[in-house]
Amino acid sequence: MIRYALACEGCEAEFEAWFASSDAYDRQAARKLVACPECDSRKVTKQIMAPAVRTSERAAARGAEPEMDAEALAKEFARRARAHVAENFDYVGDGFADEARAMYYGETEDRPIWGETTPEEREALQEEGVPALPLPAPFAPKPPKRKARPRVN
Ligand SMILES: [Zn+2]
Repeated sequence: MIRYALACEGCEAEFEAWFASSDAYDRQAARKLVACPECDSRKVTKQIMAPAVRTSERAAARGAEPEMDAEALAKEFARRARAHVAENFDYVGDGFADEARAMYYGETEDRPIWGETTPEEREALQEEGVPALPLPAPFAPKPPKRKARPRVN
């Protein structure tokens, strides 16, 4: 059994529900069988989860688990964000502006990428309306070593 925190897009209710497995949830959600208990809307999504902030009472109730202070929590959150980017995003190094532009104009398939831009490139992307967000430093993984691509001029 797995418990999910769900959110209703209709009335913004938040609720929890149990499912046999994550697959079972996916199937039921796809068939619109997951309903909001407040308004019966089928526009229900899994809540985006961030690390829980534990209050001292709850920590005490649970016993020995140490309380996370804000700094530790921020570090843990940043660690997970870096791991997520490193695992799921393709590092394109200084080719970021070219890759982002190619995706924006439909020349290549959309995929999650990250990399570096010069301030000029960033400005140019912004002016063209290419969606790209600066990754806050704590959320940026260490760039992997990659072979330098021959630059075409
Ligand atoms: Zn609802």
